[in-house]
Amino acid sequence: MKKNNYSSHQKNSSRQISVKWKIFLFLLAFCGVLLILLWLFQVVFLNSFYQNIKVNEIKNTAHTIEKNINDDDLEAIITQLSETNNICIEVLSNSGEVMYSSHVIRDCLIHSKSAFDEKSFLLTVMENDGELFQYYNHEDFNNRQRESDATKNPTATDHLQLPVKPYNDLDDKDDDTIIYSKILTDSNNNKLTLVLNSMISPLNATVNTLRVQLYYITAVMILFSVILALIIAKWISRPIEAINASAKMLATGDYSTRFKATDYKEISELSNTLNYTARELSKVELLRQELIANISHDLRTPLTLISGYAEAMRDLPDENNAENAQIIVDETKRLTTLVNDVMDISKLQTGNITINRQPYCLTVSLRDTVNRMNKLMESDGYTIVFKAADDIMVLADETRISQAFYNLLTNAINYTGPDKMITVIQSVFKNPLDQNSDWIKIAISDTGEGIAAEDLPYIWERYYKVDKNHKRAITGTGLGLSIVKSIFDVHNGDYGVTSNLNEGSTFWFSLKIK
Ligand code: ADP
Repeated sequence: MKKNNYSSHQKNSSRQISVKWKIFLFLLAFCGVLLILLWLFQVVFLNSFYQNIKVNEIKNTAHTIEKNINDDDLEAIITQLSETNNICIEVLSNSGEVMYSSHVIRDCLIHSKSAFDEKSFLLTVMENDGELFQYYNHEDFNNRQRESDATKNPTATDHLQLPVKPYNDLDDKDDDTIIYSKILTDSNNNKLTLVLNSMISPLNATVNTLRVQLYYITAVMILFSVILALIIAKWISRPIEAINASAKMLATGDYSTRFKATDYKEISELSNTLNYTARELSKVELLRQELIANISHDLRTPLTLISGYAEAMRDLPDENNAENAQIIVDETKRLTTLVNDVMDISKLQTGNITINRQPYCLTVSLRDTVNRMNKLMESDGYTIVFKAADDIMVLADETRISQAFYNLLTNAINYTGPDKMITVIQSVFKNPLDQNSDWIKIAISDTGEGIAAEDLPYIWERYYKVDKNHKRAITGTGLGLSIVKSIFDVHNGDYGVTSNLNEGSTFWFSLKIK
């Protein structure tokens, strides 16, 4: 069944894509997106970008001149702007006279006197609400100009009278000249017309160069990203694969497997967690083996006695007496106790136990147990003294608390000194950690040999016995105190022991008062 689960899990994972390939594909896709962007910007949109920049440049220049229209140094400003931006500029008066002019481009149309008729141009600008964008191909324009000169039939409409287009509508790829004109008013209320001429250099050669370069870049980038993706993918997946290999070993039951930590924080943490898991699993395995060994050992002794006495009673008529039958009954009881203890401890420690909390009088319940014990042990000379000032109520599982108290009491009876005295004292105190509540404390003291300081921390553990070879009469299961511990743990109570060698021991527990 287990195997089936594992293999179906494996099958499922074979349909999933590995981290290595995922990283590889992501890197490749990233590189692809970068290349597409590069192509779009460098090749496809380069022309429109360039034209937009040129249009903005010419507009900004016009704006600067407009701002300085009343400046005394207007001419110097115009010359400077014209030179820095490589734009030809003319400022015309209302009547079409050239007031300022700066000529920096050889093939400029506004300074080609045969082409540019200022007066008719002014009219066109005015017709277009004082602002105008025009595109021309300067060679085409000059040819037409020459033809018109040759026919000796020049008309005003031949001068720069191509259709007026919005500036972003540069549909003719051959146009290489932008003319921007705007009518301004100076402080003397004179209308001045600003005319700017800028050249758009043909970009085809540049675009072709870029395209060839991009072919190389694309090839190199693809190669580079494939190599990089493979390296990174391997890098990241290697520690995961190593952990997976170790985890498979762990799954087969090899608890000595250790997971290697790497440079990555997450993988390191995962390794630590898995190492911890492996350690805990090996502890559980050890406990399991110990438990089986202990239980079988503890079961064997009473079973040997029972079968021995039973056989003797069957075979030898003299042995068939009440005394021997009592031994069999006692050993059977011991077996029952052992089996019950083992079941209790496994239920308590796996958390499979439901405790039934009810308000009840702890003092009365304990006093009853003590009285019953006193009656039972009287004949053996044991005395249990119970001291309690008040009857105290608690909210707890009475059966479980009685079981814990009974375990502590039987231990005290088993280990007390020759005076056979046991004292149970009830007291009430304020918990230092919780000043608002009163707590009840029950202390069970004996006068026995006590427990050595080095054994004290371990006596609450399962199967811990201080004197491994002690007399059969007081051999317990080694589970009593660990049941006590579990019961007070689930009740959020407290417990402890004070003991010195040869001075007796005092085991105590405390619970919150209801
Ligand atoms: P056991 O069934 O062996 O008594 P427990 O878990 O009850 O197992 O106790 C664990 C060990 O603690 C005992 O083996 C014993 O050595 C020691 N111990 C418990 N109670 C006392 C006590 N009152 N006086 C001295 N030793 C004690």
